[in-house]
Amino acid sequence: MNDTLIRDAELLVTMDGDEIPGGWVALREGTVTGTGRPGTEPRAARTLSARGALVTPGLINTHHHIFQNLTRAYAPATRYELFDWLGTLYPLWAGLDEEAVEVSTWVGLAELALGGCTTTADMLHSHPRPRLTDAQIRAARQVGLRFHACRGALDLSERDGGPAPEEITQSTDEILADCERLVSTYHDPSPGSMVRIALAPATQAAVSERLMAETARLAERLDVRLHTHLAESLDEVTYCRETFGRRPVDQFEHVGWAGDRAWVAHFVFSEPGERARLGRWGTAVAHCPGSTMMLGAGAASLPALREAGVTVGLGCDGSASTDHASLWLEARTALAAARERGGAASTTARDVLRAATVDAAACLGREDGLGRLTPGAPADVTVWELDEFAFAGAHTDLVEAWLRCGPVRPRHTIVQGRPVVENGTLTLPHTHDMLSAHARISRRIQRLSD
Ligand SMILES: [Zn+2]
Repeated sequence: MNDTLIRDAELLVTMDGDEIPGGWVALREGTVTGTGRPGTEPRAARTLSARGALVTPGLINTHHHIFQNLTRAYAPATRYELFDWLGTLYPLWAGLDEEAVEVSTWVGLAELALGGCTTTADMLHSHPRPRLTDAQIRAARQVGLRFHACRGALDLSERDGGPAPEEITQSTDEILADCERLVSTYHDPSPGSMVRIALAPATQAAVSERLMAETARLAERLDVRLHTHLAESLDEVTYCRETFGRRPVDQFEHVGWAGDRAWVAHFVFSEPGERARLGRWGTAVAHCPGSTMMLGAGAASLPALREAGVTVGLGCDGSASTDHASLWLEARTALAAARERGGAASTTARDVLRAATVDAAACLGREDGLGRLTPGAPADVTVWELDEFAFAGAHTDLVEAWLRCGPVRPRHTIVQGRPVVENGTLTLPHTHDMLSAHARISRRIQRLSD
């Protein structure tokens, strides 16, 4: 018998070709067993009502720096663009330790679940102390979100002409050895896995050419994915021209990253020929318009990327640049940004929902049905509350309404068949203790007095 039946949805969207009014989805032992029309519901040990709600696959976040929730809306940095913003925050991130990373990840993952997200990637790029990725994975296991830890890295310190203070950088060899250790300890390539590792030097503008090239070779040998930032800011374009004599995407190809093993964040400053090359290579893009617009760089054009054949997933990006961790909010921002760039006919709410589910799963290299409600897929489901005030008058297209009206919160966020949010509330214990710990640690990191 099924463990869980979610039934009576206003609309069930499978992202596998079906939109079913009054539909249901059944789950057993962490996988979807079926979906269907009203009147055909199977038996289940327990039933969750989706009456008055939209049901979709759980949203998938393809790019984030969760630890940055320790330095959110940090006053000295709020008027800066990327390089100055980083320069202001890097010294604070030197205060990261295992406790800071574990607590900030726990809080960030809980916030993501409250925004309807069930799987997230996360790039931790500052490593002032060892074993910080391990602390993230501990938090992910406690919260129960599916977690793709992107082992970030900076190996160029100010002494080597890089942008980062020495305390948050590591040597190239130390980084590569830790990547290998993390993959052998945690990476689970099996269908439905809860933890995977990707290798993720932060950006070509802050790491050595050797780290980029050797990371690509290591990822090939270990059969894991590659992730980095690419063409995020004009400063990065200038840096790559001056340092390598190439544009960012040419340097990316030069160091052996061009291919379908990699997905890259942002890709804002791209030319048509460069977008076509990414499309041909199968290199996917994590689109995070909230963050790049907030930092004054504008947004990548979602319609132009899609037209070039690039797979585009959605991402929140840094908790201190976007300053939120709601994929719903990011999806709404992406819809508005895409239509501003490509016109009203260019992009629909369904296009953006696809970027946040099916195409996001492709960014992360998931081939187990993640991002769809289809038999055998991982049992990740979000039941979205269609609030009676915000949705008053929305009758003709519930998917468009879901992204245009709002704000929308999940009634239930279910990961691997387990509710992380149930009836709008986190099912996790000690939430107030975790927030108190976060307040204490973030004040320390920001060097504020108690
Ligand atoms: Zn980022």
